[in-house]
Amino acid sequence: MKCVVVGAGLTGLAAAWELTRAGTEVVVLESERRAGGVVLSERREGFLVEGGPDGFLAGEGDIPALADELGLGDRLVDQLARGATLWTGQRLEPLAQGRAAELLGIQVATDVGAFRTEGLAARLGASIRPAQGVTGIAPTARGWRLAVTGGSLLEADGVVLAVPTWVAARLLAAAGVAEARELDTVVYAPSVTASLAYRRDQLNGRLEGSGFVRAAETDGAVRACTYTWVKYPGRAPPGYALLRAFLEPADGDPAALAHGELATVLGVSGMPLWSRVFHWRRGVPRYKPGHAERVAHVRERLRRLAPLDIAGAGVDGAGVSACVRSGREAARRVLERLGTNRVGGSPFPG
Ligand SMILES: Cc1cc2nc3c(=O)[nH]c(=O)nc-3n(C[C@H](O)[C@H](O)[C@H](O)COP(=O)(O)OP(=O)(O)OC[C@H]3O[C@@H](n4cnc5c(N)ncnc54)[C@H](O)[C@@H]3O)c2cc1C
Repeated sequence: MKCVVVGAGLTGLAAAWELTRAGTEVVVLESERRAGGVVLSERREGFLVEGGPDGFLAGEGDIPALADELGLGDRLVDQLARGATLWTGQRLEPLAQGRAAELLGIQVATDVGAFRTEGLAARLGASIRPAQGVTGIAPTARGWRLAVTGGSLLEADGVVLAVPTWVAARLLAAAGVAEARELDTVVYAPSVTASLAYRRDQLNGRLEGSGFVRAAETDGAVRACTYTWVKYPGRAPPGYALLRAFLEPADGDPAALAHGELATVLGVSGMPLWSRVFHWRRGVPRYKPGHAERVAHVRERLRRLAPLDIAGAGVDGAGVSACVRSGREAARRVLERLGTNRVGGSPFPG
């Protein structure tokens, strides 16, 4: 049995792990040169900078369970500071627990932090094929044939599509699954993060909680800011501070915009030691009403074909825990159907 996972973001890596555990031969095809998708961490001069997610909901056990299976359970770190404040345009005011995520209009909330995909990618090793994007997918007598950038073809008994929904919609529609176009109703909001390093003594204001959110009625490019080095351990060397600002896409240098506004809000003096900006042209997905029904409809249609399932932030929830769950569950459904095949069932029940 050979399965192909398309996309090596957190969802695809989780799906590949589930398939590997079941003893299936797995290939993960990733269009970029790096695995991890929007999960992206960089080390710089003793700082740890996150480009995408930095935490997950404590109440959801998916990440701890996966980390334990990988032998990385002791690498998860607890959040040190909790709570957020609201920038009213004049001052920072306390915010009720959970209100920050609500104000930002995001479906993700963070509590316990620091999960990175390197450990998972390392365990999957050579199964991951970077810079090999899937350009087409077609049903065969046994399963699926995937066309890969550069012109090569790959046969698979089962497939998990763990790519953003606009990619899945295009690939499946071209394979004759017209219903998959419904997935293209998911809109991925653009997002920019600017991480700024300072000496601790450059921050003159008193910091409450782990960050602030800007009130909607006030002007500014920075929507929210995390006091990264206060929130999690090991983010900045002793005596230094690391701030991460979330900005709306705007004209101008995001790091300069962020520094200008943070200087006012947090009483920062002098210039940042350095900055690092990440542009996510299509960041966190937002669903339109009826999303769950559309996903169920597409999955129902896919059940009439050889084993193939869809998974990911644009399908089953944007948070990292939901992505791990989505990838693993899609893999289990594919395995279940392959199991049926092994005992003589047809791959084309429809
Ligand atoms: C700035 C930011 C901050 C966030 N913060 C948090 C947070 O703190 N907590 C939280 O829970 N969540 C957070 N999220 C959300 C969460 O990180 C993402 O929803 C999740 O990581 C998405 O994982 P994914 O694998 O589904 O998608 P992706 O990470 O987008 O992975 C999809 C992969 O598919 C690849 N691909 C695309 N097309 C093809 C193709 N044709 N062939 C092969 N490969 C292809 C892509 O290159 C990519 O690697 C944040 C997101 C962003 C952008």
